[in-house]
Amino acid sequence: MSTSGEAPLGRRAALVTGAASGIGRSVARHLVDEGMDVLAVDLEPDPHGPGVPHKADLTDPSANEGCVSAALEQFGRLDVVVPNAGVQYVAPIEEFPLERWQTILALLLTSPFQLAKSAWPALRSSRSGRLIVIASVHGLVASPFKAAYVSAKHGVLGLVKTLALEGAEDDISVTAVCPAYVRTPLVEKQISDQARAHGLAEERVLEEVILAPHAVKRLIEPSEVARLVGFLAGPGGAAFTGAPVTMDQGWTAR
Ligand code: NAD
Repeated sequence: MSTSGEAPLGRRAALVTGAASGIGRSVARHLVDEGMDVLAVDLEPDPHGPGVPHKADLTDPSANEGCVSAALEQFGRLDVVVPNAGVQYVAPIEEFPLERWQTILALLLTSPFQLAKSAWPALRSSRSGRLIVIASVHGLVASPFKAAYVSAKHGVLGLVKTLALEGAEDDISVTAVCPAYVRTPLVEKQISDQARAHGLAEERVLEEVILAPHAVKRLIEPSEVARLVGFLAGPGGAAFTGAPVTMDQGWTAR
């Protein structure tokens, strides 16, 4: 029987991917500020960013294993894994390049699988292990021209549910944070692609495409996602498992 409840947790170690930019950087910063040891993984890690920088291309499955080994070597334990690294590609299905599909599936779906698989023994030893995937509202609903991203994000919700069931006996909780649009370079880069795909001027894209499905017409700040991850990683997060944790400005209320 599980006993962890809301008891305070001791010094903990975390691994955050995509930690050099946007949401990942903000999450790494928040967890460091909360007193955790953090391995900050990225394709181009920031030596001046929060946590211990670690370079890896997570589209390579063995690199994911390497990140877990590096965290264990560095900190001697691993309690929290945040698969966050992501890319987007916007194109109609007929023009969608197969190699983009494969890269996006590798990064958004296979990397969380491989990180979980490699980290599982450490999460079990933690007795309050947390796997917190940064999924998306696009794990719950679709938008046109994002075949790979929407498919991968829906897929990772299946992984989260499965691993929540597998981790239950060992007090490993597994969640998928599902934000709507967050103010990061990933969204900024989409504006020109969206303008082309929708045949709109760039200045109209934020209002007419990006924020159109939001009930609340503002971008979410990366720090808001980071605070939610901090809560899920802490004692208050123990009972959240097997479910999306949605922060979507009312998108899925319709
Ligand atoms: P971002 O572009 O600001 O940061 C992504 C980071 O991932 C970058 O530092 C990049 O170098 C890294 N990365 C990319 N490919 C990599 C690879 N092969 N190996 C290792 N690192 C790699 O993006 P973001 O907006 O902060 O997105 C982070 C996550 O949040 C993604 O999974 C994204 O799908 C999700 N998300 C973003 C939004 C949004 O509106 N920005 C909304 C919902 C979900």
